[in-house]
Amino acid sequence: MEMITEIPVKKIARSRIQEVDFENLEFGQHLSDHMLICDYANGQWQQPQILPLSNLSMHPATLALHYGQTVFEGMKAFYMEDGRLNIFRVDKHYERFCLSLERMCMPAPPEEIFREGLIRLVETDKAWAPKQPGAALYLRPFMYASEPKLGVKISEQYRFVIIAGPVPELYARPIRVKVETQYIRAARGGTGFAKCGGNYGAAFLPTKIARAEGYDQVLWTDAAENKFIEESGTMNVMFVVNGTLVTAPLSDSILDGVTRDSLLRIAQDKGIPVEERPVPVEELTFGFLNNAITEIFGAGTAAVVAPISLVGINGLDYTLPAYGKKSIQQILKKELEEIRSKPGRDPYGWNLVI
Ligand SMILES: *Cc1c(COP(=O)(O)O)cnc(C)c1O
Repeated sequence: MEMITEIPVKKIARSRIQEVDFENLEFGQHLSDHMLICDYANGQWQQPQILPLSNLSMHPATLALHYGQTVFEGMKAFYMEDGRLNIFRVDKHYERFCLSLERMCMPAPPEEIFREGLIRLVETDKAWAPKQPGAALYLRPFMYASEPKLGVKISEQYRFVIIAGPVPELYARPIRVKVETQYIRAARGGTGFAKCGGNYGAAFLPTKIARAEGYDQVLWTDAAENKFIEESGTMNVMFVVNGTLVTAPLSDSILDGVTRDSLLRIAQDKGIPVEERPVPVEELTFGFLNNAITEIFGAGTAAVVAPISLVGINGLDYTLPAYGKKSIQQILKKELEEIRSKPGRDPYGWNLVI
């Protein structure tokens, strides 16, 4: 493929931005004016383009609709305190996108298309990036099998798309979670490490059941024995046990969260003891009884940390103490937010400042 020097932009005739109430944003309510599209055909990536956001036209036999070859990413761009825009951890998201695509037998777009596509889309729609601290322009790169063919087969055509939209800071209220031992999210050898569409559709039913039982989310356990905690809904999950930050090690059933990775790194550099090891459900039960567990929280791009206030294990509910500003999760979250927003505060090279 030739080097792309400039991605052409076809501007929308009239912006929809006046429809947005930036003071009262809701996650996912609005998408910005433009999208990036890049097609793969005849074994080659075609010229990426930025176009006005519009419906995608699809043949009814489009392979993705039938056999689920579809992968996405979720990331954010933030205004920094000096007024520049920062896209957070593009490299790490690209790396994960490629691993997900490989698992789904899909070709990866060149890094340049991914990175320059994001930059150009954020520049084009920068008016859509909220200015309030913590709010962000959410970025959703995704790709699907676009070849129209009814047979079960690996698609030979794909479409890579990036859409964007303003999202508020999520002040996550503490959530109640249920340790799930009937349904599973991901098995050894499966697709749990990949951000592929089917993983999410398959999680809806167990989550719906947990909600009917009075919980907000499930804590997934391992598929083989239902003995170890893996993730919380669509977030990684972290525990503070006797002052140590503990989380399950990466495997083919754990999504390699960018937030997980960032928080572990920050914790290590702050001298907080960190352990990546399997977390038995039994350890939780004992830990609640002898007060060894002081915090449990989800980690993900949407909320950074999602505090967990209650865990249901086999019908028994265990409550956690309220989390103050000195809790490990709040200290880590604050540090991550400062790295993203304060110029000159990024010791890891995580910010792509544009
Ligand atoms: C996206 C996702 C996460 C969190 O990843 P981040 O990169 O931190 O947003 C965790 N678990 C699952 C299953 C996910 O889909």
